[in-house]
Amino acid sequence: MSHESVIFQIGWNACINCGACIAVCPQPPGFVTSFNTIAVNTACDIACMACEIICPVSTIFHLKESEIANDPTFIQLNPRQY
Ligand code: SF4
Repeated sequence: MSHESVIFQIGWNACINCGACIAVCPQPPGFVTSFNTIAVNTACDIACMACEIICPVSTIFHLKESEIANDPTFIQLNPRQY
């Protein structure tokens, strides 16, 4: 289990909006996207990876926060202020 915060990425074309990732997530309510999946714009400091494990279509991925600045593809897919 990682103790470094992570940022999740979801393959939106594969997601079936089943809600399993939210149901298993131990973060407080509100750690969600507007598509009712776990958040992709907020760092997760728990990093238990339960969402990745439970996703039935295996479309949740993550990077550690320290890795994000070195991954231009991730930055492109997650157009935030990195
Ligand atoms: S568990 Fe996977 S398929 Fe289900 S809503 Fe979350 S990202 Fe989408």
